[in-house]
Amino acid sequence: MSTETKIKEVKTSSDAAESLRGLYVHSLKDIYWAEQSLSKSLPAMIENATTESLKKSLKDQDRETDEQISRLEKVFNIVGEKAEGEKCEAMDGLVKEAKHIMETTEKGSVRDAGIIAASQKIKHYEIATYGILCSFSKTLGYDDVAEILHESLREEKAADQSLTDNAYNDINFEATE
Ligand code: FE
Ligand code: FE
Repeated sequence: MSTETKIKEVKTSSDAAESLRGLYVHSLKDIYWAEQSLSKSLPAMIENATTESLKKSLKDQDRETDEQISRLEKVFNIVGEKAEGEKCEAMDGLVKEAKHIMETTEKGSVRDAGIIAASQKIKHYEIATYGILCSFSKTLGYDDVAEILHESLREEKAADQSLTDNAYNDINFEATE
């Protein structure tokens, strides 16, 4: 292999790392915006929920969302980027869907089921995002960041599980018949 080819290869691979970093920073700003948007939407969801277990699950998510926002601020600091959000069209759509469900259903078991469905879509979006961000962090050599984001990933998975296990099982559909 000639020296010239070797230099070219190294350059290409560092360019790729540079553009992966760009995508990575964009993804961090996207989830930062998404968590803040969710934080503003959760109080209405808590207010609309009627079972204690669903209210509790949403309140836990509200508290965790604030912690996840702080964690992201720590991450921005580690990677040397300004903590600022970039609109996440997906989360914007998901919170609009949650709002629409609450506006078009009668308060009670059906609206509760709708809130759970909307929240689970939100959790799945966040699970995918944090999973990708953990993997990008490792690729870019930010192992400490991967660890921090893994904590948020673990919380999102547990929240999804709590919606399935507790909240949904507690809804009494017979009561509406
Ligand atoms: Fe979150
Ligand atoms: Fe997004």
